[in-house]
Amino acid sequence: MRREIALGMLLAGGALTLAVSGYQAAPAQQTPAPKIVEVENLKDNLFMLKGGGGNTAVFVTSTGVVVVDTKNPGWGQPILDTIKTITDKPITTIINTHTHGDHVSGNVEFPATVDVIVQVNTKANMEKMTPAASPPPGQTPAPNIFKANNGRGMPKHTFKDRMTLGKGADQVDLYYFGRGHTNGDAFIVFPALRFMHAGDIFARKGPPLLDANNGGSGVLIGDTLANAHATIKNVDSIITGHSTVMTWNDLNEYADFNKEFLAWVRAEMKAGKTVDDAAKEYAIPSKFKDYTANANQSKTNIGVVYTELKK
Ligand SMILES: [Zn+2]
Repeated sequence: MRREIALGMLLAGGALTLAVSGYQAAPAQQTPAPKIVEVENLKDNLFMLKGGGGNTAVFVTSTGVVVVDTKNPGWGQPILDTIKTITDKPITTIINTHTHGDHVSGNVEFPATVDVIVQVNTKANMEKMTPAASPPPGQTPAPNIFKANNGRGMPKHTFKDRMTLGKGADQVDLYYFGRGHTNGDAFIVFPALRFMHAGDIFARKGPPLLDANNGGSGVLIGDTLANAHATIKNVDSIITGHSTVMTWNDLNEYADFNKEFLAWVRAEMKAGKTVDDAAKEYAIPSKFKDYTANANQSKTNIGVVYTELKK
């Protein structure tokens, strides 16, 4: 496989990137920007494509290419153009880790022959494409990209708890361990390479987005992550939703981070603190050394957990 493209860049013209929220800016704010796909060569036949939304994995098998996640609207073609610089093999399969627009929207630009596989709850979410949060002032919800494309790019196959594609060097294992970032977060494992794509249930080292509108859960995310860590074997490296490649131990630490956050929020609620009061007190525990604080996200997450605990 060609190592020399490891740092290759691809430029293509196009429109504004959509944020994870699923809302688009008012037309006056839209400015065309070049779409730059950055390629990281992780293994001979595994590549991470960065830019334009969530990290995309490109896994080249003996019979074709498996793509995990397809970025924001308008980024399908730049992904296709980038894959052409990696291999002449046909794209056979898209796997989407979850429903968010910055991970699924490029699907509609792939050939209609490509199989699309997701966890069954994610298919239901993709039928609605409900945004993760209420629209900011002056912004309107993005149209459902799949409805706008007559259903193109929608899943053709689903799995509930586990699915295996191919075998030997080509094997891909799909796992689901319950609610977290959404209610359909798939863990995608390439066992021959000891690599996994975790999507946004492990997006970065920092407070997660808990998308209650799509079944996400601050009460369950820590357990779900711990289950994945305890069940999946023989993985060394993890492609995250939006950050750099992490280690297997980083996943365990992230499960602990979320479990400790839940325990802390429970204690605040029991002490009669309001969400605002708790948010003012919260700081990431110092043992989570290279974590990035996000005060707004932490406050939102305290609110999500309070709502769940009150049910
Ligand atoms: Zn997401």
